[in-house]
Amino acid sequence: GTGIIWFRADLRLVDNTALLAAREQCENLVAVYLPTPMQWHEHHVAPIQVDLIHRRLAVLKDLLADLNIPLVVREVADFSDVPLAITQLAGESGAHSVFCNKQYENDEQLRDKNVKNALSPLNIQFHCFDDSCIVNPGDVVTQAGEAFKVFTPFRKAWLSYLYRAGLQVQPPPAKVDSNALMTLSDGDIPTFTYPKVNSIDWPVDEEAIRQRLLTFCETKVALYHQQRDIPSIDGTSCLSPYLATGCLSARQCLSVLLNYAPNCLISPDSGGFAWLNELVWREFYRHLLVAYPKLGRNQPFVSWTNNVLWRESDEYLQAWQQGRTGYPIVDAAMRQLKATGWMHNRLRMITASFLTKDLLIDWRAGERWFMSHLIDGDFASNNGGWQWAASTGTDAQPYFRVFNPTTQGERFDPKGEFIRTWVHELKDVPDKYIHTPHLWPEAARNNDPVLFDSPVCLDYPLPIVDHKAARVCTIEVFRIAKEMA
Ligand code: FAD
Repeated sequence: GTGIIWFRADLRLVDNTALLAAREQCENLVAVYLPTPMQWHEHHVAPIQVDLIHRRLAVLKDLLADLNIPLVVREVADFSDVPLAITQLAGESGAHSVFCNKQYENDEQLRDKNVKNALSPLNIQFHCFDDSCIVNPGDVVTQAGEAFKVFTPFRKAWLSYLYRAGLQVQPPPAKVDSNALMTLSDGDIPTFTYPKVNSIDWPVDEEAIRQRLLTFCETKVALYHQQRDIPSIDGTSCLSPYLATGCLSARQCLSVLLNYAPNCLISPDSGGFAWLNELVWREFYRHLLVAYPKLGRNQPFVSWTNNVLWRESDEYLQAWQQGRTGYPIVDAAMRQLKATGWMHNRLRMITASFLTKDLLIDWRAGERWFMSHLIDGDFASNNGGWQWAASTGTDAQPYFRVFNPTTQGERFDPKGEFIRTWVHELKDVPDKYIHTPHLWPEAARNNDPVLFDSPVCLDYPLPIVDHKAARVCTIEVFRIAKEMA
């Protein structure tokens, strides 16, 4: 019979659980992708990520055509239109079953339930698989049978599960017999009704993505633990956009890692160990989302943090968004995000801390801004990262520990190389003042008689808040919120 393989956040043929199952159970297959622009708007999906998806679909279409599987792309408005689109395609293709990989977010779960309900009276089977994690949500739990709330024991249990279960990366499916269904697939991928931001800096062909993974594991992973925190060094994999859209599976990443750095499971001081740790953080946040659906409903994990009196300030929020806070490392990072759709992990932590702790602005405003600009926007990781930084999440930064944006800059961008790349106004500031440029003019006047005649004048804002005072105020606001609970 015929089956539908429905692609969502799993845009690949290699190691795709649903696709393989579909191939095993059906003689002929038709693939479908349903763009949902209104839903994307609601979920703040970044236009640059949508562009990456669009380009990737063209690659996928060719790869599928080689297997005699047509790819049908039909735009609908939002998730409520999806059941009809799927049942219609089942009618046109004569499919008796639909295969897909699970998405763990609430709206996506509801969408799938509605599709299943629409298909069942038509006697069309709906098969949905766990696929996006190396270890599936629910497979590692505490002795009491509950989801882990703390990362380190989670990682331990996760690793011992992996030892027991092993790792398997599945090959792409075999070619289907007939090409009769190919007529369903018509011409180029239609443009999406969505703002366009070019993602061309991120290649989407199979070879380039695979090569990026190989090169990283071959040449960079050994130094990862030493370089991963320095934004001016290209020391991380930059694979997040591919993992977020499923062009690449986490299992593929781990499998290549094990090839090049077999000690990654046992040597805590190795780069491989540190990189694996990040893949496990990705899994941790996904498992949490499944165990605690409130995370997907705009709720903090720690309930008392609902009492925090966040500051309502459009002015501060905009200064942060546009990279005009007067804190160079924060501003450089925010400008990188706006210009490229990507930001280094250390900088995500610094800027998220700055918004929530220095400006005392609700983490949800930051979560939204990140999502609407990140090419690697991923609900679980983004929400997890924000709740970590804002001290509202499981195993988060304690509220009384507040990053100092100046010393963070000094530690992780000592000479201001990263800062100078993105904040051009500061390119001539001496290293000594690159993290405190507001102190430079004064110091220059005092020390240098020549400059006294032509005083230094920077077109750069003064710090919008005083970090020391802001820190004290935020800790107090959190303390009061906790007492109220
Ligand atoms: P590498 O260092 O090479 O890590 C490899 C992979 O591990 C990444 O591609 C990613 O899939 C995963 N990973 C790494 N760090 C983390 C982490 N802390 N949490 C979860 N997964 C991780 N990551 C996203 O993929 N999408 C997001 O929307 C996102 N939002 C974030 C928001 C905040 C406030 C913070 C603090 C972190 C966020 N992260 C997010 C996690 C992390 O910053 C990025 O995954 C990482 O910077 C991507 O770069 P890379 O691929 O070079 O990572």
